[in-house]
Amino acid sequence: MAPEALLKPQDFQTDVHNDWCPGCGDFGILKAVQMALADLKLPRHEVALVSGIGCSAKTAHYVNVYGVHTLHGRALPVAIGVKLANPGLEVLVVSGDGDGLGIGAGHFVSAGRRNLDITYLILDNGVYGLTKGQASPTLKLGVKTKSLTQPNINEGINPLWLALASGATFVARGYAFDIKHLKDLIVRAIRHRGYAFLDVLQPCPTYNNLNTKDWYGGEDRLVEGKKMPRVYKLEERGYDPVVRTFEDTEPKKMEALKHALQWGDAIPIGVFYQNEQFPTFENRLEDRIPNYRESPPAKQVIADAAGRPTVRVQKFLDELVVT
Ligand code: SF4
Ligand code: MG
Repeated sequence: MAPEALLKPQDFQTDVHNDWCPGCGDFGILKAVQMALADLKLPRHEVALVSGIGCSAKTAHYVNVYGVHTLHGRALPVAIGVKLANPGLEVLVVSGDGDGLGIGAGHFVSAGRRNLDITYLILDNGVYGLTKGQASPTLKLGVKTKSLTQPNINEGINPLWLALASGATFVARGYAFDIKHLKDLIVRAIRHRGYAFLDVLQPCPTYNNLNTKDWYGGEDRLVEGKKMPRVYKLEERGYDPVVRTFEDTEPKKMEALKHALQWGDAIPIGVFYQNEQFPTFENRLEDRIPNYRESPPAKQVIADAAGRPTVRVQKFLDELVVT
């Protein structure tokens, strides 16, 4: 086996049977995750991937790192617990749009407020793929995908706006069929010091017959015989998302919000906003618990060699006594 420092993307593959539909955007995202981990030379035992429920959530089984496949909408709180217990781990969270922005929406907002140093990917296809294509929270009002009997009666959430409003300090969007670009975004998100949110446009060919690979790629609109892709890269148009001074925060966020509104004929991908001027949750914890990083909960001894608990709970119970 290759030393951990020399791992290749294929070393992050598992032999678990993959049952995603042929042509699903999830395949490209999985590959991008594996490529990013190899690029970052991350040892497998230092990475944890936490997922919720849905097609996207199977990613935890397909990446050869620690994996936790949790409950519907609950990937973020579990991931936050993992990171708090062992801040030395690189923690990635993978959800679907239904999972992360429906039942998990409260956790989405809380994660932004905390600014814990984790990376959150939402695989965004506008439908609940695993349960036969109901409208998800990101499907826009009036849109009728093929498994809906009538057009969507609800307005869609803009995940980038919600992330920016909640306080996420890295906000980006990738596209499942631009794997190299997506890999670079994941690398940048993981390197970001703070909470990084990445919305990934993920065509679901089985249930979303509108936002398809051909649609994003502009196969349906030819100009002089050339296809006109709807997806474009922010960085190729000179967009600068980085907040360099604290005072820069508001104007940069306003620019990010403006660009995040674009949809339809021109859909931006890339980094919308990056701000490392704010302390992470771990920094704030260290202010209160000075030896937190050296002795986090996961590294504390809780049993002796014979397996007998060494933790004295009475001390904690005493603190709860109201006198
Ligand atoms: Fe992918 Fe859609 Fe199939 Fe789920 S239902 S595996 S999202 S194509
Ligand atoms: Mg979905």
